[in-house]
Amino acid sequence: MTRVYNFGAGPGALPQIILESAREELLDWQQTGMSILEISHRSAEFEQLLAEAEQDFRHLLAIPAHYRVFFISAPARAQFAMIPLNLLAADETADYLITGIWSKLAYAEARKFSPVNIALDEEPRNYRNIAAPETWQRHPQAKYLYYTANETINGIEFPVPPSCAELPLVVDMTSSILSRKINVQDYGLIFAGAQKNIAPAGLTLVIVRDDLLTMKRANIPLTYDYQCFKDYKSLYYTPCVWSIYMAAKMFKWIIAQGGVLALEALNRQKAQLLYASIDQSDFYYNNIDKNYRSLMNVPFFFTATDADNTEATKLQKLFIEEAATVGLAAVKGHNLVGGLRASLYNAMPIAGVEALVSFMADFERRYG
Ligand SMILES: *Cc1c(COP(=O)(O)O)cnc(C)c1O
Repeated sequence: MTRVYNFGAGPGALPQIILESAREELLDWQQTGMSILEISHRSAEFEQLLAEAEQDFRHLLAIPAHYRVFFISAPARAQFAMIPLNLLAADETADYLITGIWSKLAYAEARKFSPVNIALDEEPRNYRNIAAPETWQRHPQAKYLYYTANETINGIEFPVPPSCAELPLVVDMTSSILSRKINVQDYGLIFAGAQKNIAPAGLTLVIVRDDLLTMKRANIPLTYDYQCFKDYKSLYYTPCVWSIYMAAKMFKWIIAQGGVLALEALNRQKAQLLYASIDQSDFYYNNIDKNYRSLMNVPFFFTATDADNTEATKLQKLFIEEAATVGLAAVKGHNLVGGLRASLYNAMPIAGVEALVSFMADFERRYG
C-alpha cells in the first residue's frame, strides 16, 4: 500500500492513524458486535460518543458555557440559509463582507430570506486584499457581521477577526477551524463544515451564543431550526453517525498533538516554508497581499505568460501529472481560479510540504 501526500482542499487528508483505528473497529465497535455504520443513534454507546465529542471540541476551543454546540448533518453551505433564517426576521438586515467565492455564495443565499447588505466587496479587485474597516459600507440596522475567516478557493484569510465593535460576528470557519487559536467570545456564531479540517463530509459544527437563539420566524423547517438542535441536543433526526465518529477521533488526535496552539505553530511553519519557496522564485507566484495570505490553502501560479496563456497552462498540466508520479496528489487549483493549490490542513505533516517544495525546485530547474 502506498499513501500519498494529499494536498486536496476538501475533502482534506485525515491522519493515517485515525483511518487505521476506524478500520480496526469497523466490524465490531466497542464490543457491540455492530459497525458504527449500523448502530442506532439512540443507543447509549452513540450518545456517549456524541457527548464526548462535544466535550473534547469544547475543550480544544475553550468554548464557554453560554455557547451551544450543534452537530448538524448537512453541508457547510446549509448555514448560508440557516443563519439568516434563525438570526434575522424577514425585514431585518445584516452586513456581509465578500472576500472570496464562499462569502459571495453566502451573501446570495441570505438575500433570499432577508435584505442583507454588502458592506465590502473585494470581487472587483479579484479577492487579493481586504480593505480597511473604515471603508466598509456598514448598515446602521445590521444585526450581525458575516465573513469567511479563510477563503479556501482564493487563499485569503483574516489574520484576526474583523473589528465590528458592538455587532455579533458570524463566521464561516470551514477551512480554518482548529488550525489556529481563536477566542470564541469574539464571536456570536461560528460554523465549520467538517470535511476540510475535521472529518469526512456530511457534518457541520455550529457554535452559537445562547442569547442569539431567539425565534425570529415561525415557519423555519425543523431541520433548519437551531431551536430544534438545542431542544433535541442535535438528535432530532438520524445524524451522520460516521462523520461524528471520525470527528470524535480527530478531536482526540488534536489533543494528543498538544492542542490547537501546537498545531498552529506547525501550520505556520508549513505555510512559511511554501510561501518562502514561491516568493524566492521567479518561476512561481502567489498574488495575495502578504498580510492576508491563507495558512491553510496556498494557490500559486506560473509567471510564464504569452498571448493566450498556453505556456502557463502547459506547465500546470505537466506539474500536476509529474507531482502525482512522486506521491504529491491533488495540487490542481480550483476551476474558478486556475493554477495550482496546496492545502495544508492539520493532517498534512511538514514532511509533505518539504517534499512539495523540493519537487517545485526540481520542476523549476527542468522547465524554468
Ligand atoms: C468547502 C467550503 C464550504 C462549502 O462546504 P459544503 O459542505 O460543500 O457546503 C463553505 N465555506 C468554506 C469556507 C469552504 O471551504
